[in-house]
Amino acid sequence: MGSTLRIAVVGAGIVGVSSAEWLRRDGHEVTLIDRIDPGDPNQTSYGNAGILARTAIVPVSTPGFMRHVPKMLLDKDGPLFLRWSYLPKLLPWLIPFIRNGREDRVREIAGSLDYILGDSVDQHFALARGTQAEKYITTGDYAYLYKNRESFAKDGFGFALRKEYGAVWEEWTRDQLHEFDPNLSDKAGFAVALKDHGWVSDPGRYLAALAATFESGGGQFLKGEVDMIAPDEAQPTLTMNGETHQFDRIVIASGVWSRKMAERLGHKVPMEAERGYHMVLKNPSFKPAIPYMIADAKFVLTPMDGGLRCAGLVEFGGIYAPASDAPNAIFERRIRSIYPTLTWDGVETWMGRRPSTPDSLPLIGESSRAKGIFFAFGAQHIGLTSGPKTGRIIADLIAGRSPNHDLTPFSADRFDRS
Ligand SMILES: Cc1cc2nc3c(=O)[nH]c(=O)nc-3n(C[C@H](O)[C@H](O)[C@H](O)COP(=O)(O)OP(=O)(O)OC[C@H]3O[C@@H](n4cnc5c(N)ncnc54)[C@H](O)[C@@H]3O)c2cc1C
Repeated sequence: MGSTLRIAVVGAGIVGVSSAEWLRRDGHEVTLIDRIDPGDPNQTSYGNAGILARTAIVPVSTPGFMRHVPKMLLDKDGPLFLRWSYLPKLLPWLIPFIRNGREDRVREIAGSLDYILGDSVDQHFALARGTQAEKYITTGDYAYLYKNRESFAKDGFGFALRKEYGAVWEEWTRDQLHEFDPNLSDKAGFAVALKDHGWVSDPGRYLAALAATFESGGGQFLKGEVDMIAPDEAQPTLTMNGETHQFDRIVIASGVWSRKMAERLGHKVPMEAERGYHMVLKNPSFKPAIPYMIADAKFVLTPMDGGLRCAGLVEFGGIYAPASDAPNAIFERRIRSIYPTLTWDGVETWMGRRPSTPDSLPLIGESSRAKGIFFAFGAQHIGLTSGPKTGRIIADLIAGRSPNHDLTPFSADRFDRS
């Protein structure tokens, strides 16, 4: 271990809490800052589907993806929504996003994603073992449900890529699937059960427990809005609640809100909010034993402590637009068609903002324009999964330990050049 540094981590979502905790375990004096408490519903880390999606290496933009977009937008049960007035603002993100769907790029992106996802279940245990957070992690299969084998064949490219990176799965016929889960209707007639996955049974409480571990180990949590982060010849500074604080290092882990902070440092960060939704069915009459991805609907059903959580879908409309109602109607229609006999008492609805870059890769590493300021944001659909590994990489970089991996694909400079 090197010298003890005074480090601020801005943002207490899964990425910030993980970074803060790994830095604290390295012996640094760490201050974690957020305007809300870890585990608050206004964090993206609160409302996700909870999947430790270690094989989610296939980005959303893949060869042929754009052909399906018009149907997805027009279908009333489709997984994609666009606030049309937002389209002009979306274009600088959308155009490179589409370009990144070329097969050669998708293969490169998958390799980089595998680095931050492949050992993610172990990474979560490394952070949570022996703490109050550990009880929220369950391990097991994660199954993709299809109408039939033919619909699975349409996802052939993505699954072949997963296989190249070591994904192992079982294919379940209708009879095998219905023996495993007799409550399913014939809308689910085939499944791909991915092995060795994990899920978090209450992402909000999980995060709060990790943050409590950080504090009980000597880390400091400060509640406040960070207005400005600035490089300084000696040490970087941040301004919070009108006061300026100096640190040896600052980590920006503020999810989708990091864009503004990084742009003020002179970087181009074409990051968008890929808004997603959840509906938790409270006191359901039954829950599946494992999580399911409803493949054509692009949402996940996860058995959680608070009920059965339907989570997913994508809406573009910026960070600040209010939540829409349509996604909740889709969740309800689809759940009733998959589980016709399911009943429940009430629902919790939620909207969150995935921090998404056009190449589906997060920004991880030190800013080339502002020494001492590190980036840890932009993990789109897989930020819960990759959070602990990202935190470990940040701690390695600050300690001067080599992560033994080329981090160029995660550098902020890739957008500055475009
Ligand atoms: C519907 C849905 C389902 C998902 N399912 C999964 C899944 O199953 N598995 C998976 O791996 N990922 C999933 N994700 C993605 C995952 O939730 C995100 O990638 C992840 O939570 C991002 O974490 P974060 O720490 O970067 O950001 P956040 O959790 O959003 O945290 C950022 C924090 O920064 C704070 N902040 C911002 N600006 C400031 C400021 N100026 N001052 C102080 N504090 C500030 C915010 O208050 C916030 O607490 C899903 C996302 C959605 C929307």
